[in-house]
Amino acid sequence: MTAKMIDGTAIAASIQEELTAEVAQLKEQHGIVPGLATVLVGENPASQTYVKMKRKRCAEVGIHSVGHELPADATQEQVEALVRELNADPAIHGILVQLPLPGHLDEEAVLNAISLNKDVDGFHPVNIGRLAMKGREALFAPCTPAGCIELLDRIGVEIRGKEAVVLGRSNIVGLPVSMLLLKRDATVTICHSRSKDLPAICRRADILVAAVGRAEMVKADWVQPGAVVIDVGINRVDDPAAKRGYRLVGDVAFEEVKEVAGWLTPVPGGVGPMTIAMLLQNTVKGAKRAAGLL
Ligand code: NDP
Repeated sequence: MTAKMIDGTAIAASIQEELTAEVAQLKEQHGIVPGLATVLVGENPASQTYVKMKRKRCAEVGIHSVGHELPADATQEQVEALVRELNADPAIHGILVQLPLPGHLDEEAVLNAISLNKDVDGFHPVNIGRLAMKGREALFAPCTPAGCIELLDRIGVEIRGKEAVVLGRSNIVGLPVSMLLLKRDATVTICHSRSKDLPAICRRADILVAAVGRAEMVKADWVQPGAVVIDVGINRVDDPAAKRGYRLVGDVAFEEVKEVAGWLTPVPGGVGPMTIAMLLQNTVKGAKRAAGLL
């Protein structure tokens, strides 16, 4: 059996197209232009690239974006003051503080300072709390986890009643994706570095989400035949034949798992493109909510 590929690049492109139409309509019918503010502290090259990509995508769909850059030695008060200023700005519907912040800053306090209504990254503790509680809804779901669910929806996989196993329990991926799967009525098992016998636990999964950051850890004999496998991992492995001297691989041993799984995301081109698509979607949602259209 060869798994069907889940083409995150194509799915993200369709979402972007839908959002472009929605943004044009919001402007035409309501005079609203969704606005995203990015906050970058310091000069981490990866963070600079991520922010640049996010702003480029915003421009493509017609979202107005404003980039704020603070020096690496910015104080806690400076960062929080900027966040408060953006909270009060009616042209801004989403605030994205690019993580990680330099070590001297209190990340939790900064995330706490973001208005719940503008928390388009979905990392505010109250949004995460709502995600975890029965009968409550987060105003925004974190982007990468929401992207995983969106992929399942777009390929038509029923989540309700399924056995879902999530490898990883981080605040940004493992934990929130587990909570989203639970909200959608999956039976969820969360694994981490202290879990015993991962292959046996993973083999129970109808839906397996790998978010550990360990190159090609999930092998073919960890996967139930026909399972849907979502690979969130992005790992660099040395490859002298590659132009940059390395290539990107996921947490799943793609070549062998594709012979067992029913559906599989490639890396790159699977979950990765969905993260920004969900950020754009959250920003549009924030703008609609601010205008009383939701
Ligand atoms: P973290 O390092 O924050 O979390 C990793 C999790 O995996 C932890 O819960 C850890 O367990 C668990 N873990 C680590 N090693 C093992 C192991 N050997 N066996 C079982 N569990 C293990 O990573 P993130 O969640 O931030 O990211 C995970 C991966 O996803 C990374 O490759 C990252 O690059 C990628 N990523 C991709 C995104 C995208 O857009 N596609 C966005 C964000 C991340 P414990 O809690 O016990 O330490």
